[in-house]
Amino acid sequence: MTVSGPVTHLTLAEMRELLGKRAFSAKELTQAHLEAMESQRALNAFTCETADKALAMAEAADARLAKGEARPLDGLPVAIKDLYCTEGVETTAGSNILKGFVPTYESSVTAKLWQAGAVMTGKLNMDEFAMGSANMNSAFGPVANPWQRKGDNRDLVPGGSSGGAAAAVAARMAPASLGTDTGGSIRQPASFCGIVGMKPSYGRCSRWGIVAFASSLDQAGPFTRTVRDSAIVLGVMAGFDPKDSTSVDLPVPDYEAALHKNVKGLTVGVAKEYRMPGVAGEVERLWKRGMTWLEEQGAHIREISLPHSQHALPTYYILAPAEASSNLARYDGVRFGARAAAEDLTGLYEATRGQGFGAEVKRRILIGTYVLSAGYYDAYYNKARRIRSLIARDFARAFEQVDVILTPTAPTAAFAQGEKMDDPVAMYLNDIFTVPASLAGLPAMSVPAGLTDRGLPLGLQIIGKAFDEETVFRVGHALETAAHFTHRPQRISG
Ligand code: GLN
Repeated sequence: MTVSGPVTHLTLAEMRELLGKRAFSAKELTQAHLEAMESQRALNAFTCETADKALAMAEAADARLAKGEARPLDGLPVAIKDLYCTEGVETTAGSNILKGFVPTYESSVTAKLWQAGAVMTGKLNMDEFAMGSANMNSAFGPVANPWQRKGDNRDLVPGGSSGGAAAAVAARMAPASLGTDTGGSIRQPASFCGIVGMKPSYGRCSRWGIVAFASSLDQAGPFTRTVRDSAIVLGVMAGFDPKDSTSVDLPVPDYEAALHKNVKGLTVGVAKEYRMPGVAGEVERLWKRGMTWLEEQGAHIREISLPHSQHALPTYYILAPAEASSNLARYDGVRFGARAAAEDLTGLYEATRGQGFGAEVKRRILIGTYVLSAGYYDAYYNKARRIRSLIARDFARAFEQVDVILTPTAPTAAFAQGEKMDDPVAMYLNDIFTVPASLAGLPAMSVPAGLTDRGLPLGLQIIGKAFDEETVFRVGHALETAAHFTHRPQRISG
């Protein structure tokens, strides 16, 4: 292949091939992405650009490429959600309370990327402590989605909490980025921005060095523009890490190789409980189209039942805040980031936390502390844990009959900045399709599958068996091929 058009529009796999052929250098590729970042600063996708670091890393990659010693991601630019600790680069989790925190260590997953030759271009904006569905809860201000509704130039949200990570890849500021997903924060923004977002099985990637939100749910995963690119990046991120006791010691398959297998003979489950009110008609129609596409390629569709899924959202919104209230107790003004002036120690805690945390984070800490308090622990926290087991059991039973489950990713397309802001519960409904797989620890991916009447992207979600990311990629690839989603966002330069 040859290069026609901007290099930033190539897929990661194409960039890899062309770097190998020395069609351009890693430095040129990095420079092109740094320019795309600069010209699209209005989207507010980055909290910090690391141009000098990127150019130095690109030069090192060029030296290896020239010697024929290329590593798997050599010279490929990747941007990182600001939840991953990056050595020597400020890491804020989108919060005022962590401003000025410069880690002295690197998260295990990002360390693997750099080891594989990837080039770090910057840190990405996000909802504070990964709490949100619209990237409206960031101390750095909202991120704009590069997509806009037809005939309407209002800024739309990119989804959340990994809003900057999704917007950057959609707007061709990076071919890949890293996000995290606790209840949908990779899949829902991928759907809103028309790209691929993969949340692997809980335990597949190390959480070491990622700022914790809800430790039993948090997972690292990639954003890319194609399923192949997702397989390439996850292959590098995944694997056992002795520093994370919940990471699982299983071999990492060759995900890219899994794409060669078609979906003939696979059984795809469709949960009857997922046909619910509040889901846009065009989302339902796309879901049906997804079923037809897979049937046409030789898969069977089978109706399944996930009866406890209806309780997934309230269960999640008890468990995630409970864990968050405990995890966020460490931000006390003594050890990390910002510290407010005060007369005494209690005053220091109160002032630091009062000024440092935003409204949504405070809401979750209050809810979490309440459901964990002595009188309410059994009524809320323990009950939610029991329902979580039932949700996981529903999936286990369904997976006795099917290989994957197909659902919409989100109940609607992207909405405008400011919409749904006055009602936190309306915002939580965004997670209705993504939270069940999170509670069950299952791998799930969103693949762009179509546009709404007003020209906005919609994704379909594929949920797989635990640690069977390969089948998720296979089905994702089949959907991608059938959907042939070649649309591009309006707000994109170059
Ligand atoms: N929207 C969900 C929440 O606010 C999911 C966030 C996430 O996955 N980090 O909790």
